[in-house]
Amino acid sequence: MLAARIRAVALAGTGLSCLAMAVLYGQARLWPAAFVLATGAAVCADTARHVCEAAAERRALAVAAEHAARHDGAGPSADASHGDAVLIELSAACCEMWWTSIGTEHTQDCTRQRGT
Ligand SMILES: [Zn+2]
Repeated sequence: MLAARIRAVALAGTGLSCLAMAVLYGQARLWPAAFVLATGAAVCADTARHVCEAAAERRALAVAAEHAARHDGAGPSADASHGDAVLIELSAACCEMWWTSIGTEHTQDCTRQRGT
């Protein structure tokens, strides 16, 4: 995005220079040169606009792809669902000993230990 802005600013500067030169050539009544420079200024302005629009489109596509990767069933969300499964298992654990012993032992004060 920054490179696109630098490119757009450079194009705008070049276009303004062409426009200034077109005015000077117009004042000197050198119409063919004034016309060519005015055309160059218009092309620079249009290209700067195109550069900004293309950068905005690329950014929108990147944001949409990132959003889709975070919220769809593939990619990073698969890790998120795995993390959700781990959280569910952790919340079902009655005590730390049960969790670390893979469900084979309980701590002395565990409610499930006393209940079963
Ligand atoms: Zn327990």
